[in-house]
Amino acid sequence: MYAIKVELKLNNKERTLMRRHSGYARFVYNYGLALTQGLRSAGVKASVAKQINEIKKVFTNYTKKQPENQWMNELSSKVYQRAFIDLAQAYQRWAKGLSSKPVFKSKKDGDSFTVYDGNGKVLALSGKKIKIPTLGTFRLKEAFPCCYVTQTFTMSRQANKWYVSFAVDADRIPNGRASFDSTETARTRTCSPPTYHPEEAVGIDLGVKCFCTLSDGSQIKAPKPYKKAKTKLALAQWRNRNKQSGNRRQGVKQSNRAKKFYDSLAKKHARISYQRQDFLHKTTTDISRKFYRIRIEDLNVSGMLANSKLSSAISDLGFYEFRRQLIYKSEFFGTKVEVVDRWYPSSKMCSLCGNKHDNVKLSDRVYQCQNKSCLAHTITMDRDLNAAYNLLNAPLDYVRLAQPEVTLVDKK
Ligand SMILES: [Zn+2]
Repeated sequence: MYAIKVELKLNNKERTLMRRHSGYARFVYNYGLALTQGLRSAGVKASVAKQINEIKKVFTNYTKKQPENQWMNELSSKVYQRAFIDLAQAYQRWAKGLSSKPVFKSKKDGDSFTVYDGNGKVLALSGKKIKIPTLGTFRLKEAFPCCYVTQTFTMSRQANKWYVSFAVDADRIPNGRASFDSTETARTRTCSPPTYHPEEAVGIDLGVKCFCTLSDGSQIKAPKPYKKAKTKLALAQWRNRNKQSGNRRQGVKQSNRAKKFYDSLAKKHARISYQRQDFLHKTTTDISRKFYRIRIEDLNVSGMLANSKLSSAISDLGFYEFRRQLIYKSEFFGTKVEVVDRWYPSSKMCSLCGNKHDNVKLSDRVYQCQNKSCLAHTITMDRDLNAAYNLLNAPLDYVRLAQPEVTLVDKK
């Protein structure tokens, strides 16, 4: 199972159609949530799934037929059916402790909706067009290299771009001839088979100064244009600090120039996120192709985020995303991703003699061993490289196989 996500090429009419549908999905979700909450507080004992089923009947047979809700009949019925399924799933995830309690959706959360074809699987043909059931045929920015079979299509918007995504019920060929990337692209990247030697292992130290240091001595830096874009963004925000942004409660309308500014701001934010995604995908794919056993540190990211000086740098770099990508790509590339315990002294220990040195500051860029008979006492080592070696050679009781992370709740 993997996912395809491609940008749609829409005209203004189609954009409006997409926006209307996502508004519809949001309306139905909130409608269902409000009634479910009402039933729960009234002490109704039936299961949430049953309640939602009943609410759906009320919606179809009564609410949808009201004259003020005439607009709903112009839109796809598959969208509202899916919104109820989404709500039921949100409650299920909450019951399992995988996510927090369902909350009302707001326009600010962005636009997205899903078309679910209850009649069965649909064929998406290869080429530059996609036919979405009950919604219509749309042009694609990039052609599909082959035909896909799916039952759900999710449309989502980022800044001014709309995307369609769906899961493909198939396994990817392990040596990477299919498009490798599960969240971003359907590009036909002709991948050669992975070139790693199965014994090859690597330790990776993540850092702020240099994004990651590999135990084979290579260092990967986060792209500079990304930093530049952030500075520009901050400047634009400061220059436009007095723009009249709307406030519905006070009856203040957003000025045209403010609207323009916020649209351009969204585009800039989107650009930064594309750059980051691109960088992370390239890095994790490269590493997954080269090495078989990949060892990374179990980062105490929430602890690091508490340090305000580091926090913006870390959350920008996307360490979590880096790890997540390494883990999900491991299935595809056949790699083994291992996490080294947070308490393992990877940055304090000498990788040559094992001597521990407690006064390592974050500002020390080099590691010097305190043990006078050690080689690392005379020749200083790069601090991150030392840590990467230590991660590579960590004793087995500190190492565990990385699991895809699902829990959101226990982090709080
Ligand atoms: Zn030493």
